[in-house]
Amino acid sequence: SKTCDEISAFMDSGIYRFENSNAVFIDPVRVLNRCYTRFRVSPSAYYSRFFESIDPNPNPKTSSNSRKRKRKDKKPHILNEREQLADQRHQVVRPSLLKAHESLMEATELLAVMRNLRSEFKYSSSVYEPSFVELGRVWQAPLYEITLHFNHHKNLDKDGVDKYSEQRLLPAFNNLVVNRTEDDVEGEFLDGRYIIPRESCFYMSDLGQIHNLIPAEPDYGFNLIVIDPPWENGSAHHKSMYPTLPNRYFLSLPIKQLTHTNGALVALWVTNREKLHAFVEKELFPSWKVTYVATIYWLKVKGDGSLISDLDLFHHRPYECLLLGYCNGEATDPKHLLRFKTLEDIQIVLSIPGDYSRKPPIGELLLESVPGLNPDRCIELFAREMMAGWHSWGNEPLHFQHSRFFLDD
Ligand code: SAM
Repeated sequence: SKTCDEISAFMDSGIYRFENSNAVFIDPVRVLNRCYTRFRVSPSAYYSRFFESIDPNPNPKTSSNSRKRKRKDKKPHILNEREQLADQRHQVVRPSLLKAHESLMEATELLAVMRNLRSEFKYSSSVYEPSFVELGRVWQAPLYEITLHFNHHKNLDKDGVDKYSEQRLLPAFNNLVVNRTEDDVEGEFLDGRYIIPRESCFYMSDLGQIHNLIPAEPDYGFNLIVIDPPWENGSAHHKSMYPTLPNRYFLSLPIKQLTHTNGALVALWVTNREKLHAFVEKELFPSWKVTYVATIYWLKVKGDGSLISDLDLFHHRPYECLLLGYCNGEATDPKHLLRFKTLEDIQIVLSIPGDYSRKPPIGELLLESVPGLNPDRCIELFAREMMAGWHSWGNEPLHFQHSRFFLDD
């Protein structure tokens, strides 16, 4: 049947497409696993939150918070001008979000699979992990090295395959560390082990060094640029997770210089603050020479399919936005621009969130929406993880590559 096909496609790809809908459900663990040949991403390490059944004792603090909220709700709150704009934005997308969520709740077979997405319990969080952000700041940073353990395969005429291993010692910071092979490579850094996917590379540095990624030839530029900036936001919890930067720093990101001669699709994650939406629309995209085309909404659900918070909760929306735009290259074919015009205004991706601020891997979905932009040269800015075929830049691109996020082999 149709749903059986859909489920088995989901089991392979991690992507479930709802019929007659602009919504998909994705399992990041399955999507990421396609980046690896020998290693497997650990579902319980990825899904560290939002599986209710695993944490039967709700935090007493949270319940007192909701009591407080209820009390507050009694007073009618009059929205100021900015809040009204935010509410208008919300009302426009609300029906599509509800419809997407309904599709999920009707997909009973998918819901059954979802409950088991976090299927094993070997996760240990007590392993030592360095703070790349801290290490990159000290004067010794240029001296830190990563050792890559390559397993080469050489095809011999008769006797089959010859395997030999090779170790390479490379500077870990301010250096492009590349795995050109078609196999996963293990890296050793301080006391940790990191898994580097095939045909991928990282450049670990502060924003000040980002110009080193600008290609010498525009042909080597990127045609997919995903950006998840460390936006400032009031919460102290947020501040303790990673350093943030004031908006003006993002104005000078060299997006145009990173763009391929054939142009690039630019995908920017934004939070729900109205001020930020206005900044992107009026200042950031214009200064990058990016033209807005569409928005992907990431609707966050729990393991049982329910939304992580009430859809209409003003300050805790259960979704985030990925703004899509395009940047012309020197030789952009107008035919390519037409493709962008056919992107649907509103697309919805449902998934169960992983760690704090970790975004679902939507690269593949984005590539589908821009055929014709070949070759696929992809880069993620402010990345905390790596993907096969991608460049990752940020001050901690190895963060989620630590072996504790993978199953023991
Ligand atoms: N997309 C990522 C994910 O899914 O895990 C999350 C990215 S997080 C919003 C922003 C990242 O930018 C953090 O890793 C933070 O350490 C990094 N960052 C903050 N200030 C930076 C700077 N000055 N230079 C480079 N990276 C920086």
